[in-house]
Amino acid sequence: MNYADSARIRAVLTNCWFQYVDNFFDADIVVFDTCSVRQKSEDKITWKLKEIWKTKKIWITWCMIQHNLRSSKLTSEISNSGMKVWNFLGSVKSNDPEIIGLTTDEVNKFNFRSGSTYCFINNAFNPLFFNLKKKRKNIELFFRIDDTWLLPLMLEKVWYRISYDKEIINEYSEIIPEWINTSMNNHRKTAYIPISTGCNQFCSYCIVPYARWFEKHLSIEHILQEAKKYLESGIEEIVLIGQIVNKHPGFVNIIKELLKLKWLRWLRYTSPYPSYYSDELLALHENEEKLCPHIHIPLQSGSDDILKKMARWYSSHQAYEFINKIKSSSRKISITTDIIIWFSGETEDDFQKSMDLVDYWKFDMVYMWIYSPRPWTLAYRKYEDDISYKLKHIRRKRMNELLKTISLGNNKLEIGNIRKAIIDSKNEELYYGYTDNMKQITIRRKNSNINIWDFISVEITNGEAFRLNGGSL
Ligand code: SF4
Repeated sequence: MNYADSARIRAVLTNCWFQYVDNFFDADIVVFDTCSVRQKSEDKITWKLKEIWKTKKIWITWCMIQHNLRSSKLTSEISNSGMKVWNFLGSVKSNDPEIIGLTTDEVNKFNFRSGSTYCFINNAFNPLFFNLKKKRKNIELFFRIDDTWLLPLMLEKVWYRISYDKEIINEYSEIIPEWINTSMNNHRKTAYIPISTGCNQFCSYCIVPYARWFEKHLSIEHILQEAKKYLESGIEEIVLIGQIVNKHPGFVNIIKELLKLKWLRWLRYTSPYPSYYSDELLALHENEEKLCPHIHIPLQSGSDDILKKMARWYSSHQAYEFINKIKSSSRKISITTDIIIWFSGETEDDFQKSMDLVDYWKFDMVYMWIYSPRPWTLAYRKYEDDISYKLKHIRRKRMNELLKTISLGNNKLEIGNIRKAIIDSKNEELYYGYTDNMKQITIRRKNSNINIWDFISVEITNGEAFRLNGGSL
């Protein structure tokens, strides 16, 4: 999601005549598009800030600043002030809001007019800005990602003299990045297209609803327009993204419409929620070659007690039925999952249920997360993080060993199959990439005409844990 958002920020700044530089050392301004899913992500930002020379300006946006806006001090200041605070809760609707809030003093002295719309920035209310700014004077701007489209107005407020094409400033959900590389891969054939932002699910451990706030769905027309633009520019793989991507009310239609588009080779999506999969979507996976044969089902735990504590609204039995349907498909579909193994109160029995789930279904990959208590969440308020660091790591090791054996077994079964792969990188003898069923692959070079970014057919010659080996055809 952050790659797609950064692309939108870049689009707006380019429209203001800022120039993007590939090399961090050449930049005058560094924009941090932050994530708060785990404490580690926030620590990384704090640590990274120390690396930025004082001569460079720093701007910060997204989750880290947004969940800090929820402080109780802030809430009481707002409720006492009688101010209009649209941009704490959703997009500013006016094209011409007053940009306010560089300092708390400024806000206190500001004469708010009834009927006007205000977009608040920086340390007026944000305790994080206030604290960080004390240590790093070069932090210049804090803004909500939903307000990206108002950046030109904010920049004028912080003394930049800029010119921009007013016609192409749009609401966040309407911005279409101008270039094709929204990819986190080395190649430039993949575009990540957001179809929704925010989340209303409130899983008890998750900060997303507090940091990214409520769900908003982008229109099908906009999504198709963005996809067409990328495909015309050379993109061949599209990844639809959203906090619960398959909850978009038009999700199946979006897939069907995209599959009709010329130039599209591969279509993927992430991250889904188990209960929002439909039989219609599974049928598309079974019958449509371009819809990649890979399904991710973030189950998080195999224990019903823990699922309940996590406020995940499905049972292990429902998960079983669903995976059974995928396994019954006539097309071989690889299945991956997420597991939080160390949620508070997880007993040995609960953990064993997760191990049994992974072992029974032989997932192709399990993304394991160490539980990290996040502010505002129900789990943070209600449950103690009572599993010792040592035990967390012992359990992770056990799950990892199981996964390694499963991955080796699954990948051995691939030997002799012909798979499509996209090339990511290469050296004198080998190509590296990933397959349509989302497995890393190393390919021995038979044909020297293959380039990075090519889609090629590969015969699988060997399977290792977490990697396939093959030869180009
Ligand atoms: S579905 Fe749950 S885990 Fe996923 S973003 Fe929403 S609240 Fe977080």
